[in-house]
Amino acid sequence: MSQDQWTAVDHYISDLFIPPDAALEAALTRSAAAGLPSINVAPNQGKLLHMLARLIGARAILEIGTLGAYSTIWLARALPTDGFLITLEAKPEHAKIAQENLRQAGLTSQVEVRLGPAIETLPQIAAENKGPFDLVFIDADKQGTPEYFRWALDLSRKGSLIIVDNVVRGGKVIDATSTDPNVQGIQRFHQWVAAEPRVSATALQTVGSKGYDGLTFIEVIN
Ligand code: SAM
Repeated sequence: MSQDQWTAVDHYISDLFIPPDAALEAALTRSAAAGLPSINVAPNQGKLLHMLARLIGARAILEIGTLGAYSTIWLARALPTDGFLITLEAKPEHAKIAQENLRQAGLTSQVEVRLGPAIETLPQIAAENKGPFDLVFIDADKQGTPEYFRWALDLSRKGSLIIVDNVVRGGKVIDATSTDPNVQGIQRFHQWVAAEPRVSATALQTVGSKGYDGLTFIEVIN
């Protein structure tokens, strides 16, 4: 199996199930033109996020790691008209493009892009009593994932869904001797989730246009 094959099959899936979408495509084009890295979720993953948000009837969504708001658009479109999404982004140049992409997608009234390191904006959101959130999508710096999970739990309720991206890291997640802080962050996060009585979790390995990685899904049960 090769990256070319994974990418071709992702295109096959997207061609089948994801109709052309001007706002999403423009968001990717504008992000690329502005020099943002192409580390957004793939279209089929974005649709999975959208479907999960709809299936759980999410009215309040928190995203940690905005980039150009590609996943944000998928998630926000799952909201009812009175729902809202807050997305956290550390880099002003990313937040600026995200705002423009959200404006073009007609989502500015429901989505707030909050600028700053998540470790600073998460306590603000807690202090403002914005939660509980029905769905939290964690997709920022991976070494920060354990701390973001702590906040996600604090800002959740029984029945909330927490989804974490990039948890397999090309298989490096099983290397107990890894000195990569991103791998170590995911390992610490997984150890915590496995021992945490307030949640039930599983993880899936993924291959596709974004390479070999994975997603962890966490249901808050208590
Ligand atoms: N969720 C986006 C999508 O799929 O379209 C992709 C997010 S990208 C993988 C990660 C983003 O998190 C980047 O834009 C990066 O600047 C941001 N980020 C990294 N560290 C952060 C931090 N400490 N606080 C907030 N955002 C951070």
